[in-house]
Amino acid sequence: MSRLSALFAVFACFGTAHAAEDKVLNLYSARHYQTDEALYANFTKQTGIAINRIEAKEDELLERIRNEGAASPADVFITVDAARLAKADELGLFAPVKSRLLEERLPAHLRGNDWFAFSTRARVIIYNKQDVKAEDVQNYADLARPALKGKVCMRSGSHPYNLSLLAAIVAHQGEARAEEWARGVVANFARAPKGGDTDQIKAVAAGECGVAVSNSYYLARLLRSQKAEDKKAMESVGIVWPDQKGAGTHINISGGGMLKTAPHKEAAVKFLEYLASDDAQRYFADGNNEWPAVPSVKTANPALDALGPFKADTLPIGTLAKNAPLAQKIYDRVGWR
Ligand code: FE
Repeated sequence: MSRLSALFAVFACFGTAHAAEDKVLNLYSARHYQTDEALYANFTKQTGIAINRIEAKEDELLERIRNEGAASPADVFITVDAARLAKADELGLFAPVKSRLLEERLPAHLRGNDWFAFSTRARVIIYNKQDVKAEDVQNYADLARPALKGKVCMRSGSHPYNLSLLAAIVAHQGEARAEEWARGVVANFARAPKGGDTDQIKAVAAGECGVAVSNSYYLARLLRSQKAEDKKAMESVGIVWPDQKGAGTHINISGGGMLKTAPHKEAAVKFLEYLASDDAQRYFADGNNEWPAVPSVKTANPALDALGPFKADTLPIGTLAKNAPLAQKIYDRVGWR
């Protein structure tokens, strides 16, 4: 924090024109978590830079940035999922950011070419304790075994969370085995894919499905819920960290980058650096139940603690992004709609 306020003091000395340029940051965000309000307010408090935020679905935001072209007011774009960030990168929307602070704080596998991951989430297996044994669902590969016929529920194959999961399987095992896996999972479907991750958790709790996958923060959210129905649901569900004896559990990220056309580049870099600060990292963890990207940051979130430690896959997130289009082709071929 002291470094940021020191920086701000330096900028203030450059005179009014420069300072005025830096007083505002235009943020295009596809994160839709209420807890992010405090994250942004804290940045303004620390730096005096006001944030104008435009929130929309990622595709709409990307479309908007492209349409606005050189005149775009957007300084920073943040979203969830490596595949989506890669899409923005492919479209050439991001500017390279040289920041020693970001390089030092964020592990190499959590940095893309021109973008950065600020939090991680794990894609875990959940099962109905009455219907399925934990030892039968220790790996993603198990979801494709005939023993689970009629028991597996999944959300759509075109959703980025599942695209990134299959992208990781392609990276570890190759296209042919990844396709075989996807085909096996489809053969085990209890129902056609529908709903979001929370819907899969609730369907598993209700016994409509024996097993499903979900991002970890949805589980943490239910674990922290005071509602009787959520408490009851979580009692019926077991959670497995998949692939602990193999590559580790698949993780995805939320992150962002500075846009090439950013009118407030200094503010943009400051904001990205702020997102890697201890304060901001704790917001991700304690507010939205994600893990900090910065390894040294300690969190105080009982639900994350309750989920316990696990071995995470350290595949570079850039690889997930690169394999996502192939993952979509595989899902299309095997009929995972
Ligand atoms: Fe989500």
